[in-house]
Amino acid sequence: AKSAGGNRFELADPEADARAITRHGLTTALPAALDRGEFFIEYQPLVHLGDGSVRGAEALVRWLHPQHGVLGPDRFIPLAEHTGLIVPLGRWVLEESIRQAREWRERYGAADPLRINVNLSPCQLTHPGLVQDTVDILERAGVAPDALCLEVTESALIGADDDLLKPLRRLAEMGVDIALDDFGTGYSNLANLRRLPVSVLKLDRSFTQSMQQFPADPVDLKIVEGIVSLAHSLDLAVTVEGVETGAQAEQLRILGCDTAQGWYYARPGPPERLHDLALVDATG
Ligand code: C2E
Ligand code: CA
Ligand code: CA
Ligand code: CA
Repeated sequence: AKSAGGNRFELADPEADARAITRHGLTTALPAALDRGEFFIEYQPLVHLGDGSVRGAEALVRWLHPQHGVLGPDRFIPLAEHTGLIVPLGRWVLEESIRQAREWRERYGAADPLRINVNLSPCQLTHPGLVQDTVDILERAGVAPDALCLEVTESALIGADDDLLKPLRRLAEMGVDIALDDFGTGYSNLANLRRLPVSVLKLDRSFTQSMQQFPADPVDLKIVEGIVSLAHSLDLAVTVEGVETGAQAEQLRILGCDTAQGWYYARPGPPERLHDLALVDATG
């Protein structure tokens, strides 16, 4: 069964009013928070399942709220999407994490740069400035497009028409990787994958969770095996998220997944932590 989250019904909930007030308060505080620099980014390493090396990191935004402390993205991204603030906020996340990618490159040299994964919300996809903003940010930082992977959820691309896909195609042509995030939750037509300019499938955490038991559910194993072989036949890499145990990692490696992410390797953390992890990795 899936854990809590997603659809929450707030009928007859004594805390509903308080939450609504907070929600309203947070929503109105968002623009000033961006101006005041209250957002920060944690990075979670992406690890190659074959050799255990750190290949890059996903940027995950947080809000250090002066009264409420650190708020996770689930608390404010939906609000920012609702008000449109997600466009400048998302641009800031892109700019800051690409600056960070350049810093990593300067530390490790250009031979094997750490790549950076950044989440894109559907509102950013439809914003006309996306391609130009991304090009400008990469150029200003002197970072090559192939160091960047943009993660778009499967649900954002379901039934996507050509207008929606055009900016993603242009970015892909420039060398930016596009990952289909939370894959397997959106009931998309697998044959449709061919039409999308994606090069990475990020298998949703629910699949990883089903690898928790040993032996894992044989049907789940078959499904993951099928997704991986289809992905590879379409030249897509497979990343798995939510890996919490070594047993899961081993199972997913055997199933042919390429890259993994999860608490087993590291929780999201400050950028210096990635320096340490990658350094340990580089020096054995
Ligand atoms: P996501 O893109 O699916 O990111 C993965 C989430 O799983 C992150 O939650 C991460 O902290 C969590 N996670 C990582 N490893 C494990 C694990 O081993 N076990 C468990 N149980 N969880 C794990 P987080 O940081 O709270 O982010 C939640 C969502 O917020 C993200 O889901 C993403 O959709 C969204 N988000 C985060 N940053 C941004 C951003 O800059 N822009 C946009 N548009 N969305 C963002
Ligand atoms: Ca993601
Ligand atoms: Ca995900
Ligand atoms: Ca998710």
